[in-house]
Parts: sequence; structure tokens; C-alpha cells
Amino acid sequence: MEKVFHFDSPPEPYIADAAVLCCFDQRIRQATNKFLQRRGILRPDMIVIAGGAKTLASPRNDFERDFILEQVRMSIHLHRTTRMFLMSHSDCATYGGLAAFGGDTQHEAIHHRGELERAAELVKANFPELVVDCFFVTFDGIHAAKGEMEKKIV
Ligand SMILES: [Zn+2]
Repeated sequence: MEKVFHFDSPPEPYIADAAVLCCFDQRIRQATNKFLQRRGILRPDMIVIAGGAKTLASPRNDFERDFILEQVRMSIHLHRTTRMFLMSHSDCATYGGLAAFGGDTQHEAIHHRGELERAAELVKANFPELVVDCFFVTFDGIHAAKGEMEKKIV
């Protein structure tokens, strides 16, 4: 094949610092990346998919949920992952955006906390050895929803 781009990547095998399930929404990507770095998650196994933790909390179908669980299983198996970050975000289109909550960010955050807790329970039921943390991303930072004291982090 013709080389069309040069970039040196580390070829060594790695142990993942965490498996991270988050939405593919581009608006939250930079905050998510910076947050992971701040948390020392330098080698995440990123599972980036529409809705993020929604795929476990309120999957559209069994296939969606099972596919994500299989990705987690592979992260554990291939990269000896011992913790997981579950993430969802404000104005996520898979929930109908902020409009689905009447524009009420507080109402939306409460709903997402419940979603994240349900996703965490499913992960814990399937992978009891994993440490699971849940985070809700808004347009001004990232909020711990479970696994830590509830506080504004960024
Ligand atoms: Zn989204």
C-alpha cells in the first residue's frame, strides 16, 4: 500500500487505564479527552458510539447492549482493563436533545444520573471485578454521577 501519512505510534502492547464508553458527539470530545488526561487515563480503550452509556441503560435493542458488553469484555481480555468510565452528555440527540427535557438542564441531569446508574448496574452485574465511575458531560464541564462524591469536577 502507498503510505499517505507519516506518524510514529508506540508499538508496545499496553494495559488500558480504563474502558471509556461515551457518545460520538463531537462537541464533547475535547472536554472528554482533557478530562481523561487530567484523571491520568492516558491509555483508554475508547468505545465511542451514539448515546454513550445510553446503549447500556436504554438500548434500542438487545444487539446494541450485547455489542457494547462484548467490547468491554474484549477490553478486559486484551488489555487487562480494571476500570470503566460510563459517560453521557447534555443535549444528546439520542435522547431527543435538551428539548426532550423542556430545556430544563436540571431535569435532564437528574434523568441522566438515573441512566448512568442503570448502566453501571448492568456493567457490575456482568463484570463484578470492574471499578465503574459515571460522568455527565455538560457544556461547561464534567460531573460525577456515581462512584465518587457528587461534585463539579472541571
Ligand atoms: Zn450524544
